[in-house]
Parts: sequence; C-alpha cells; structure tokens
Amino acid sequence: MNELNNHYRMLLGLDEAWLVKSVDLSMESKRVIIALEHRGGRLTCPERGISCTRADLAPERTWRHLDTMQFETIHQARTPRCACEKCGIKTVDVPWAGKHSRFTLMFEALPFVVFRHAAA
Ligand SMILES: [Zn+2]
Repeated sequence: MNELNNHYRMLLGLDEAWLVKSVDLSMESKRVIIALEHRGGRLTCPERGISCTRADLAPERTWRHLDTMQFETIHQARTPRCACEKCGIKTVDVPWAGKHSRFTLMFEALPFVVFRHAAA
C-alpha cells in the first residue's frame, strides 16, 4: 500500500476495513478529494447489529470534510451494503459520518457549522 495513502487513513481514524485509494489535489478548484474504498469482510447490520456478509456497494457519494489548509476537502466512497439474514440488503453506517448526512462528523463538530445552521 502507498505509504502516504496509509498515513491519510490513519489521520482520518479509519481502521483497516477502509483503504485510501487516492488523494487528488485540484489547484484549479482548490479542492482535495480523498477517495476511500471498502476492502470487504464482515459488516454489521445497521438495524439489528448482526454480523453479515457484504452484498454489494452503493453508488458513489461524497461528504464534505474539514478543509486541508485553505482547500475544501471531500470524502468520496461507495458505501458497502450488507446482506442481513433478517432485514435483507441494508446500507451500512460509515465510520466518518452520520446516516444521510452530507458532512463528516468532524466537519459537523465545528462551531461555525452550528452558527451557519442557526442563521439559515
Ligand atoms: Zn439486519
């Protein structure tokens, strides 16, 4: 594994179930895109907490993360879906964001986000 990508994985606090596939820097759009990939293995059903096998991967989506210096930083990933024997196919929770959120947990923890929501 690329050492820099592995450093990014550790900086993001992700365990080895996730791989940092690439970190792309766009000088033009002042943006850093961190592409994450689920490596497979057992998953936990989000409804019942049962251990399941992976069914497939949901379509790619993005989450806004904390800026890297002055660059907007985006997580990009296909969330794994589990094949739960009780509930069927379910999209699992990702470690960096709450359900249905477009922002990472770290981004949401920033006070300025609270002010922005309050002003809206
Ligand atoms: Zn289930």
